[in-house]
Amino acid sequence: MRNLIATKFGGTSMADAGQFRRVKNILLADPRRRFVVPSAPGRRFEGDAKVTDLLYECHRKLMLGESYEDTFARIAERYLSIARELELDYDIRPELEEVRRNIALLKSPDYTASRGEYLCGRLLAAYLGWEFVDAAEIVRFDRQGSFAAEWTNDCARERLAPLTHAVVPGFYGSFPNGEIHTFSRGGSDISGAIVARAVGADLYENWTDVPGFLMADPRVVQDPRPIHELTYRELRELSYMGAPVFHEDAIFPVRKAGIPTCIRDTNDPSASGTLIVDRADAPADCPITGIAGQKHFSLLSIEKTMMNSELGFGRRVLQALEENGISFEHLPTGIDSMCVIVRDEAIAASRDRVIERIKELVRPDSIDLVSGLALVATVGRGMKGAPGVAASLFGALAAAGVNVRMIDQGSSEMNLIVGVVEEDFEKAVRAIYDAFVTK
Ligand code: ADP
Ligand code: ASP
Ligand code: MG
Repeated sequence: MRNLIATKFGGTSMADAGQFRRVKNILLADPRRRFVVPSAPGRRFEGDAKVTDLLYECHRKLMLGESYEDTFARIAERYLSIARELELDYDIRPELEEVRRNIALLKSPDYTASRGEYLCGRLLAAYLGWEFVDAAEIVRFDRQGSFAAEWTNDCARERLAPLTHAVVPGFYGSFPNGEIHTFSRGGSDISGAIVARAVGADLYENWTDVPGFLMADPRVVQDPRPIHELTYRELRELSYMGAPVFHEDAIFPVRKAGIPTCIRDTNDPSASGTLIVDRADAPADCPITGIAGQKHFSLLSIEKTMMNSELGFGRRVLQALEENGISFEHLPTGIDSMCVIVRDEAIAASRDRVIERIKELVRPDSIDLVSGLALVATVGRGMKGAPGVAASLFGALAAAGVNVRMIDQGSSEMNLIVGVVEEDFEKAVRAIYDAFVTK
């Protein structure tokens, strides 16, 4: 029997008054749900704006010397309409006014962006009649911006333990001097995991707008199957490779504390969702667990005869990247050639410098940088030791007319990553999905 459940609701779950009502119903349906972490209101319909995006826009306009009043008015109206429709006694206008002033006063992108969750938390606390605990009090980053996990856990535990119920806004915390700092985008998932660990929850429920973690991106594959059980390792591979449904760093607090996580659908609470656990048996029917991918990678290929016997060759190539502050994603290597995959945005500003430096350091026969690559990761604990998985995957890609530019298999045998040109991305994902799932 699980006695305490920490919950997190994503942007679409907090998008308007109707969604607030759903959230309240879900919370009240189970008295074990005593702690809730909301995101900022997300999109209400196709083409709508997320409050977080509007807040970043305010900051951008401010920095360009333009007025952000119109954008801010759109944000304010999102909160005011929720308060109005829910007929809340709580008057959010003074908070909105303070935020509007502080955006200009502090000129901090993190402060500005964090107010989406802060204001949403204020409204939700008023609506539920639960205590509001500002994340700035309990989530701490060190001066370098790294998340201070243990300080946070001790502080959050002490602050939250005496409370029967609380609302803690997601996405942000503070530096030791009190200044606001945010996690990366999608970071409310991390905040939810932090609260789950701090209160000693038996379960972390992450409520979103899809019926669980799906086998592929529903924007690419029509009606992909939900994954019933996912391990933390698989989840991290899929999230890092582009499935945004759960932030790849959110697993750390819960895994450490042995708390299972469940991804559930706010719009369909009767669906069981996806349970994320430390270990699970391989599924009997399908060797793969899921597929995820992303566009916008560059492939740096370096050729030099006898490269394999040149001591320090690889280190010098990577040194050129390191000197330019670029981290690499994959490193498939042959006898006379070495490839490095990096994100387009990571290398864009320094591509010429990097190429010149590599030429200086390793004197290659040729060096070539091609952008416009997409990576597709096929992940599954059932792939290990299962013969024929690669054959089916490459057979499906060949049948779909997709040319594979790069192949990388993690040593865990739990993921197989292929690089294809961006135009083939969707086709590649669908071909792999059909090969293993639809068949
Ligand atoms: P939230 O605002 O609730 O945190 P996100 O927008 O961050 O939700 O993530 C949920 C979205 O992720 C879904 O609406 C879906 O379009 C997208 N998505 C991409 N890949 C997957 C996947 N494999 N499983 C589920 N959702 C996915
Ligand atoms: N609101 C933030 C974002 O849009 C954080 C989150 O939703 O998790 O990235
Ligand atoms: Mg999210």
